[in-house]
Amino acid sequence: MSTSEERNRRRVLLVEDNEDNRIIYRMILEHHGYDVLEAHDGQAGIEMARTTDPDLILMDISLPVMDGWEATRVLKSELPTSVIPIVALTAHALRSDEAKAAEIGFDAFIRKPAEPKLVLEIVQQFVGPALVDG
Ligand code: MN
Repeated sequence: MSTSEERNRRRVLLVEDNEDNRIIYRMILEHHGYDVLEAHDGQAGIEMARTTDPDLILMDISLPVMDGWEATRVLKSELPTSVIPIVALTAHALRSDEAKAAEIGFDAFIRKPAEPKLVLEIVQQFVGPALVDG
C-alpha cells in the first residue's frame, strides 16, 4: 500500500538565469505538485540533467557560460539525457529560431513572456500529473 509520501513526484529542471522567471515558474509548478530543480547557466543545466534525471527540462536560450542552444545540443546527443523532453523558453521571436529549435531537438518552444499557466499546461502535456504511484 502506498502512502502519499511513497509516491513519486514528477521533476522539472528549470534552466533559467533570470530570478523573476525562476520564481514565477517554480511557484506555479510547485503549486501543482511538481518538484522543481534549478540551474542558472547552460553548463550547470547539463550537469543537473545528468545527475538528477528530470522528467522534463525548461530551457532558457540566453544563458551565461553556455547558451540553451548548445546545452540542448549536448543533452540531445547522449543517453540517457536525449530522451528527456526539453522545452525552449525564449524571448527570441524569430521564425528562424523556431526552425533552429526543432532542428536541435527541442520538443516544444514557448515564447517569453510566457503565461505561467501556459508553461504548466505544456509540462502537464509532456509528463502528465505531478504525482504518480510507485
Ligand atoms: Mn536568460
